[in-house]
Amino acid sequence: MYADLHLHSTYSDGTDTPGKLLALARENGVSVIAIADHDAVGGVESLGDLQAIPDVRVIPAIELSCIANRKLLHVLGYYIDARNPEFEAFIARMARDKTENTRVIFEHARAKGVFDYPWERVAALNPDQARLSGVHVVKAMDEDGYAVPGMTTRALFRKYFLPSGEGFIETDCASGRDAIDVIKAAGGIPVIAHPKSVEDDEKVLELLDYGAQGLEVYHPSHTPEETKKYLAIAAERGLYVTGGSDWHGGNNRPEVTRFAVTGLASPDYAILSARNAFA
Ligand SMILES: [Zn+2]
Ligand SMILES: [Zn+2]
Repeated sequence: MYADLHLHSTYSDGTDTPGKLLALARENGVSVIAIADHDAVGGVESLGDLQAIPDVRVIPAIELSCIANRKLLHVLGYYIDARNPEFEAFIARMARDKTENTRVIFEHARAKGVFDYPWERVAALNPDQARLSGVHVVKAMDEDGYAVPGMTTRALFRKYFLPSGEGFIETDCASGRDAIDVIKAAGGIPVIAHPKSVEDDEKVLELLDYGAQGLEVYHPSHTPEETKKYLAIAAERGLYVTGGSDWHGGNNRPEVTRFAVTGLASPDYAILSARNAFA
């Protein structure tokens, strides 16, 4: 695969450092990568001057992670200027909102007697995270060797911290429109991530009408038919086509059987990168 434009690092909920992601790209012959951490740019920034990196081109990116009607509504931003003040303030707020959402769900489950584990440990065992999610709850419990009565920590994650889980509680979150606006304000290209997860094509089309400029057509969760459908929408509207594996290292979903399992071929990347002087 030529490009994998959807990787997560230890700066959000992935288990590989940015340096490890670079090494994986080299090992797998991937020429271009984008570290698109949830509501965080620290992973990209930790690499310093991106244009000085040998062998692999890294494009600055982010995945703004909204939830709407208990569905994942994620917006990727490519070629963003992460130092844009409006953008910085926005991701700081998103990180706070996400941590608060995690804490509310956590305390609700704890009050119900699902587990007896202190929130303080979650924060203490994830000291470098601006944004705490269910993944970080599980990581803390596992590190402490804490066993949730009657279920695995994985099952706890699915039941309480995934928006589809019965114990999930939706709290304040930025909207898809806000995410599109702020990516544009930071000079980036807003792309609807894994549009399947929105579970509402009308909503996807509405966000495209509003100003999203691309669709993540190639994603491990998409069936061949869905890939075809999104490709047709992108062609009809003249949108950027993107793709990636949504790599989370040790937290990978089962479909992600190898690095860059889905991604972008060279001609599609050329169209995307032509838009930017950085290319
Ligand atoms: Zn996502
Ligand atoms: Zn992702």
